[in-house]
Amino acid sequence: MGKLLFKNISKAYPNGFCAVNNFNLEIQDGEFIVLVGPSGCGKSTLLRMIAGLEKISDGDLVLDDKVINKCPPVERDIAVVFQDYALYGNMSVYDNVGMSLRVRHEKDTVIYDKVKEASGILGIGSLLKRLPGQLSGGQKQRVALARSVVRKPKVFLMDEPLSNLDAKLRTSTRAEIVRLQRELKVTTVYVTHDQTEAMTMADRMVVLKDGIIQQAGTPNEIYYEPCNLFVAGFIGAPQMNFIEGRVEGSRFVFGSHALFLPQKIADPLKQYSGRELILGIRPEQFSISNGEDINVIAGELENKEFLGNCYILYVRIGESVLACQIESKEDSFGGQVNIRFGMEHIYFYDKETTELLM
Ligand code: ATP
Repeated sequence: MGKLLFKNISKAYPNGFCAVNNFNLEIQDGEFIVLVGPSGCGKSTLLRMIAGLEKISDGDLVLDDKVINKCPPVERDIAVVFQDYALYGNMSVYDNVGMSLRVRHEKDTVIYDKVKEASGILGIGSLLKRLPGQLSGGQKQRVALARSVVRKPKVFLMDEPLSNLDAKLRTSTRAEIVRLQRELKVTTVYVTHDQTEAMTMADRMVVLKDGIIQQAGTPNEIYYEPCNLFVAGFIGAPQMNFIEGRVEGSRFVFGSHALFLPQKIADPLKQYSGRELILGIRPEQFSISNGEDINVIAGELENKEFLGNCYILYVRIGESVLACQIESKEDSFGGQVNIRFGMEHIYFYDKETTELLM
C-alpha cells in the first residue's frame, strides 16, 4: 500500500517565508501524481516534506493511515530520485544500487538477487562494475532509478529527474519511467516545471503557484477545463490567447472588434454584461477564413514559425498578438490574415478574480 494524504499542510521556513500554504490532497495507492508549477512555487518543499527532509510546520501527512510528520526519513519506506542522481562516486553501480539493502543488513545473496532484478528492469546489467564517473547522464539516471526500485518502497519521489538529460533522451526516459511505474504500481510523486512532462506522465497533475494548489485533475481536465487564468496560461504551448473585452448582448466586444456568440454561450454570459472579462482561446482553435464565415477578424501577420505539420502565426489585432496554430504545409501567409474564431473551446474568465466563469 502507499496511500498519501495531505491534511492542511503548510511550510514556513525559519525566515517566516510561507513556501506551502494549506495544501490538501489525497493520493491513491499506485497513482502517478505530478506536481507542476513555475520555479519557486513550492514543489521541492512538498517533496522534501514527504521524504522527511523538511519539517512540516502545520497539518498532517498521513501514509496508509499513519501520521508520519515526525517519522525519520529512514523509517518512511519512501525512495527519492534527485535531479543530480546523488550517486556515490567512489562506489560501483552494483554497490550504489544495493546500498539501501546493505544499510538494512540484508544478506549478500539477497542483495545480489535484488540488484540483478532491478538492474534487469532498468537495462543496466552490463554496467554493474563501473563507477558513476564512467557513465553517461542517461545511464546515471537509470542507476538512480534502480537504486529506488531495489527497495520496493511504498512511494517513489522524483524531483525533476530528467532535467539533466538532452531533449531526445528526456522523451525516451519519460516513457520508460511511466512504464516502470505502471509495472511496479508504486505510488509516485513526481516534480517538474515542464508542462509537457506533466501532461504526458501524470495520472493526475497538481498545478501549484506561490505554494497554493491552483487545480488538481487529470491532464485532460486541466487542459480542457482550466479553472483560472494562471492554469489556462501555464498549461499548453504556445499558451492560450487572452483577449480583454466585455459582453454586450450576444456579442463579445474588444477594441474595435466584435464576435457573435452562439446562444448557448451568450445566454449564460448575460449576467456578466458590462463586466471586464477575458476571453481565452487556444491556438489550435483558429483557422484561416475563406471570407465567408462569421466571426472573421482581419489582422496583420507579425511573425510565423514552421513546426513541420503546422504553422504558428502571430497575428496582431489591435493591442493583442494572437498565436494561431494553422495546419498547413504551404507557406502562403503574409501581410493581412483573416482568422476565424472557433467557438468549440472558448473560455471566459473574470478579469478581477481571474476565475473561470464559463
Ligand atoms: P524550483 O522549480 O526552482 O526548484 P520549487 O517549486 O521546487 O522551485 P521550492 O524549492 O520548494 O520551489 O521553494 C519554494 C519557495 O521557498 C521559494 O520561494 C524558495 O525561495 C523558498 N525557500 C526554499 N528553501 C528555503 C529556505 N531554506 N528558507 C527560506 N525560503 C526557502
